[in-house]
Amino acid sequence: MPKYHIWTIGCQMNKAESERLASRFEELGYEATDKADEADLIVLNSCVVRQSAENRVLNKLAALKSLKKARPDTVLALTGCLVNADTDRLHRSYPHVDHFFKAGGSPPWLEKTDTLSIPHHPSPAVFVTISQGCDNFCSYCIVPYRRGRERSRPISEIAGEVRELVSRGAKEVTLLGQNVDSYGHDLPDRPDLADLLAEINKIDGLVRLRFLTNHPKDMSLKLIEAIAGLDKVCEQISLPVQAGSDGILTAMRRGYTVAQYRELVTQIREKVPAVALSTDVIVGFPSETENQFRQTLDLLSEIKFDTVHIAAYSPRTGTAAAREFEDDIPSAEKKERLNKAERLQEQIQTEINARLMGKTVEILVEGRNRGKWYGRTRTDKLVFFSSGNDYPGQLAKIRIEKTSPWSLQGKI
Ligand code: SF4
Repeated sequence: MPKYHIWTIGCQMNKAESERLASRFEELGYEATDKADEADLIVLNSCVVRQSAENRVLNKLAALKSLKKARPDTVLALTGCLVNADTDRLHRSYPHVDHFFKAGGSPPWLEKTDTLSIPHHPSPAVFVTISQGCDNFCSYCIVPYRRGRERSRPISEIAGEVRELVSRGAKEVTLLGQNVDSYGHDLPDRPDLADLLAEINKIDGLVRLRFLTNHPKDMSLKLIEAIAGLDKVCEQISLPVQAGSDGILTAMRRGYTVAQYRELVTQIREKVPAVALSTDVIVGFPSETENQFRQTLDLLSEIKFDTVHIAAYSPRTGTAAAREFEDDIPSAEKKERLNKAERLQEQIQTEINARLMGKTVEILVEGRNRGKWYGRTRTDKLVFFSSGNDYPGQLAKIRIEKTSPWSLQGKI
């Protein structure tokens, strides 16, 4: 049986697309292997959202040169956000790569299909892409240049895919888009995310529904009310703020002020009191002063997010920020700011999670890791427990006995 190997880095969307590719290869009779050197087909699913991610992809590509030399029949393909429209140039730069295909696209050497395959044995918690691309052009972000303008999938098509996944064993679905709040604006009847959630919420056998990523400038009251009113929609919202200073937000072209963001959080917490909020933050954006960085820290202390993804700014060629601003914060300073923000957030998460000590939470069990079962609460807390029984795909009640900033442990 021929073997395939997929290497993936980057966002959930890349992971979801790799899962679909894996199903497609399995339908064609390939078997998965985690060893690249024994695969007949290798796909690298790349990310270039930050320089560090791009470096990892380039290192991986370089490492595969000798493998391709030793085993020239191995098919090597590159997808994800490193693949731009200029594939001729990519072929010249990486002659050992046989195929390049754009993020979310179909492998060009396979028969053309519009959609990738649905996993035959999905895990209990799966991702479903509802839109591709982004129309926002935040000044630092490469995504719109690589994934193109926003294209939404019709509600009926998404609902059909979710129904199929549920019939094959999935219990929880996370709907994915670069900006889920503008979902549907390009479709004939202009449905929105609230309409989509209402439709998916009706699917029998589906237990939980999540979605990401939101954009603060586009999140509507109708959506917040849908989150509050639909029983399967989890109390968890990812709402990237990126910075705590209006000056930096303007330079980032985010389209909202800190005051508007704060107001949105207040509205969400009023309507969905149990909500867990997560956010993304970039530190060391060009010209970010010590005081502007302090404003970001102050916002983290004030809002107390359940999780924060913090990144140091790195210029991406082709973006407005790379063209217009000098990358003038020294890397040592960016690192220092990153560490400060991470230390603060660790403290906040320690406090938030400690409140769950002794409480009983409900999780959907997703699998096993290092001898323990794990799953997530509706608020996306990762919980581990030990048991000799089999639990995947089941809801379990766990009494929390140990907490840390990153996860919880307890007894079933
Ligand atoms: S909303 Fe902004 S940060 Fe998010 S993908 Fe679009 S351009 Fe990038």
